[in-house]
Amino acid sequence: MAKVPFITKEKAEEIIQKFPTPFHIYDEKGIRENARRLKQAFAWNKGFKEFFAVKATPTPAILQILKEEGCGTDCSSYAELLMSKKCGFGCSEIMFSSNDTPEEEFRFAKEVGAIINLDDITHIEMLERVCGVPETICCRYNPGGKFSISTTIMDNPGDAKYGMTREQIRDAFLQLKAKGARNFGIHSFLASNTVSNEYYPTLAKILFRLAVELQQETGVHISFINLSGGVGVPYTPDKEPNDIMVIGQGVKEAFEEILVPAGMGDVSIYTELGRFMLAPYGHLVTKAIHEKHIYKEYIGVDACAANLMRPAMYGAYHHITVLGKENAPCDHVYDVTGSLCENNDKFAIDRSLPKIDKGDILVIHDTGAHGFAMGYNYNGRLHSAELLLREDGSVIEIRRPETVEDYFATLEGFWDCI
Ligand SMILES: *Cc1c(COP(=O)(O)O)cnc(C)c1O
Repeated sequence: MAKVPFITKEKAEEIIQKFPTPFHIYDEKGIRENARRLKQAFAWNKGFKEFFAVKATPTPAILQILKEEGCGTDCSSYAELLMSKKCGFGCSEIMFSSNDTPEEEFRFAKEVGAIINLDDITHIEMLERVCGVPETICCRYNPGGKFSISTTIMDNPGDAKYGMTREQIRDAFLQLKAKGARNFGIHSFLASNTVSNEYYPTLAKILFRLAVELQQETGVHISFINLSGGVGVPYTPDKEPNDIMVIGQGVKEAFEEILVPAGMGDVSIYTELGRFMLAPYGHLVTKAIHEKHIYKEYIGVDACAANLMRPAMYGAYHHITVLGKENAPCDHVYDVTGSLCENNDKFAIDRSLPKIDKGDILVIHDTGAHGFAMGYNYNGRLHSAELLLREDGSVIEIRRPETVEDYFATLEGFWDCI
């Protein structure tokens, strides 16, 4: 699948006149169409709801769009809960899937009406003490061992810090029931960025079987199963994207095979997708400001790892398009770098690209999730602006660029004396 940017060179030049590079830009139309496809894929389930993982793109204008498409939010910190509340997400429209949770965050989660997802059995005592056990409660499950789809090992839950063991989740349900909980949920997140239509159906089967067993063992009413995040996107152009309709159908088949015969056909399916909802609908737009010829060929751009950490942190591939040179031969090999004094600040290594000239505008693809959000201030580099390409083709700034005043703002007495 060729990766085609959602802005042309002409559009980018027009935008840059008003909003200088670097910036992240999001495609409202793409976000809405994708959210509608997800909803359609799970329309067979009456209670279906997507709780967008706020950490992927913690930007109110984006949350607002998803709210209009019927999504809730998934939070794991005070700031994310507060943002969701301020965006108007109400009771039961927020999941609180935290871990290593501070007391006061449980209190605030309950106050905003979030559905609390307990990461550990010992959190029951804390929850009861700080705010009482709510009627609706969810527990996170970790099956341990390795997680495979057919013969491929996808991830290693046995090494992950999250969730409860099989025995603990049964005991947790019994304890919570005794303390007044009435509606129970099960949550699990077993593999990240899966590009396979089999992930959700395989996970669903595990959780549906667990739900039937837990209902029999504890007598609780299980009202929802949260498949969490993990449905990914192809960052490289050679991979086929997930087909959400096929995924929804696969989960439906598991539902009809396991839950319906057990009399549990009223269970709602929840998802907590982040990457799948946003990654392809965001670009980091940056300008080539230097070319350097030493032992390798370098292109220096005006964005850096502080604007997009994934390549430096995970060695992640992000496709790059040089605007206006979409059809030019990729006959040059470059490292595309940012300015950090850190040699891993490279958006691409040994990448075949068209010849890049100073002033060329580069689109770095699939930065809509876990992109801006992971930004940081190393080397005194500042967060960029975030822009929204609206459905009518207009562009608005939804977050201004960080200024040096913002950067110094937390230093007691410093700004006043310079
Ligand atoms: C990060 C996270 C998600 C979203 O993950 P994606 O890979 O972006 O889909 C969902 N739920 C929880 C609890 C998470 O920590």
